[in-house]
Amino acid sequence: MSSGLLSEPVDELDPHESQPTLHAVGHHPRPDLVAHPGGVDAEAAERAAGELLRALGIDLEGESMRGTPRRMVRAYAELFRPRPFQLTTFPNDEQYDELVVARSIPMRSVCEHHLLPFVGTAHVGYLPGRRILGLSKLARVVEQFASRPQVQERLTTQVAGWLQEQLSPKGVGVVIEAEHSCMVLRGVRAHGSTTVTSALQGLLRTDPRCRQEFLALTGVMR
Ligand SMILES: [Zn+2]
Repeated sequence: MSSGLLSEPVDELDPHESQPTLHAVGHHPRPDLVAHPGGVDAEAAERAAGELLRALGIDLEGESMRGTPRRMVRAYAELFRPRPFQLTTFPNDEQYDELVVARSIPMRSVCEHHLLPFVGTAHVGYLPGRRILGLSKLARVVEQFASRPQVQERLTTQVAGWLQEQLSPKGVGVVIEAEHSCMVLRGVRAHGSTTVTSALQGLLRTDPRCRQEFLALTGVMR
């Protein structure tokens, strides 16, 4: 049994990075690295949030808005802080060789261009190779990568890449369907439109029957 904790890399600047950026760190979990390598300076954030709102012409003097900068900071801090978890993989002793799919995993993230939420569902599957992973952990992997300023495309490839790296499966598939507040509430006001992204690797990419089966299980192919 191997275990580790998802951790934040120190360098995560390339927006076109398609490799997984979380990795298992063995027997010395570093929960401090999970979401905030630099920590949150709540006081500075609260001051800045207040300034931002006032600069936008919003009056914070009323009783109900006096605490808004503080609540804003708490809300964003929560959105950017995944629950730490211990990732445990197991050897595939039974040599299970059918698709494992966790579908309709609730997902929420924050678009890094507008800092507005995007919300939807993720379908994550893999064709086991040497190691397997608890089903609930598939949802936690999504949460880890979603709890940061993101773009949906990168989120999708990061989840797939991480599973590929940790499980050495025969194939991996990730499909995310989400509604972006920045599209729905402003700009084009595209009510009801969802964005679908997918990342397929290994047999799920190269074998048409495998891919078909995965996509049918996710319900994306209607
Ligand atoms: Zn956006």
